[in-house]
Amino acid sequence: MEHKIVEDPTLLGYRRRLIRELSDRGIDDLNVLELFDKVPRHKFIPEGSRARSYEDSPLPIGYAQTASQPSLQALYISILQPEVNETILEIGTGCGFMTALLSHTAERVYSVERIRELSRRARKELDDLGINNVALMVGDGTIGWKKYAPYDVIIVSAASPDVPSALVNQLAENGRMLIPVGDRVRQELILVTKINGEISKETAHPACTFVPLIGEFGWNHTSGSPGEGN
Ligand code: SAH
Repeated sequence: MEHKIVEDPTLLGYRRRLIRELSDRGIDDLNVLELFDKVPRHKFIPEGSRARSYEDSPLPIGYAQTASQPSLQALYISILQPEVNETILEIGTGCGFMTALLSHTAERVYSVERIRELSRRARKELDDLGINNVALMVGDGTIGWKKYAPYDVIIVSAASPDVPSALVNQLAENGRMLIPVGDRVRQELILVTKINGEISKETAHPACTFVPLIGEFGWNHTSGSPGEGN
């Protein structure tokens, strides 16, 4: 694998193989599959795991965090269907790969990450790829990002004990939010929508496992119990 990487620096062959795998896993939205062709995942994966960048698996990115599984990210985008004139709020920038995918689907992406170094690294890779419609912030995403609210789409890529009300409040009319809700081991993916001012919640996917959302309205960092806000 390492050897081939040297032969094919753009890794296009690997990207295509991942896309086939996503398609085999039931992702049939061509616009979504095309995003995985546009964004080189290996740029966002730290060296130690880089050779596995085009496997459909979560990968370590340092600071006890992970880059999410590509098929799950594809599912998120397939469900949320961001439009080119819409704005997205992402909670949990992580390595920035999802942020890069999203930057090609919407007008502007606002992304919050609690770990400064991850946000800094993501910024560098997004800049290197010439992506210029993304704003990053270091902070607690469980309270959202009020300054640019409301958002058409809200994507939470860390597991929450509940749906933080601040995020629901920052959802625009016709807005959609996906958030993994459950305990620290297993979650359901919950789709929250706002139509005619009315909030609805439904299960969009029965089982997934994300790293914990840590913050005022998420999990408490030390005790492993829900944070103060819950
Ligand atoms: N979309 C990312 C997934 C990263 S994992 C990717 O593709 O790599 C989830 C991220 O959420 C971690 O980096 C973690 O530090 C971050 N996170 C956890 N709680 C948070 C909070 N309250 N606010 C912002 N980011 C948070």
